[in-house]
Amino acid sequence: MKWLNRLAALLFGLISVGIARDFLDKHDVIILDKEEMEEIGEDELQDISNLKPDYNSAMDLRGTPTHECVCGCNIFNVKVIFDDYEIATYFLDMECANCGTLMTAPTPLDREETDL
Ligand SMILES: [Zn+2]
Repeated sequence: MKWLNRLAALLFGLISVGIARDFLDKHDVIILDKEEMEEIGEDELQDISNLKPDYNSAMDLRGTPTHECVCGCNIFNVKVIFDDYEIATYFLDMECANCGTLMTAPTPLDREETDL
């Protein structure tokens, strides 16, 4: 009976190693301590793991200049031209860095229109 228990333990161990190996082949595992996790937050952690926008809910909202996307993100991918280490000009079409929605970049002229 003792050998049966040892054989069952060995089989269970081999199956567990196989399951763990299969899991690690399919997933990336990030280890953070709890303080780091609270500081970063789940949304930012998602952004860190996705350096490209998730285009599943992207829309075309070009037309009205804006500072923030409808998803709440205020970071955009914009084409720019640099001159003397500064942004000399930028294209008005921009894309939300989070959801990929197309929008119109604000300009100083737009500020003057809203101040009137
Ligand atoms: Zn967005």
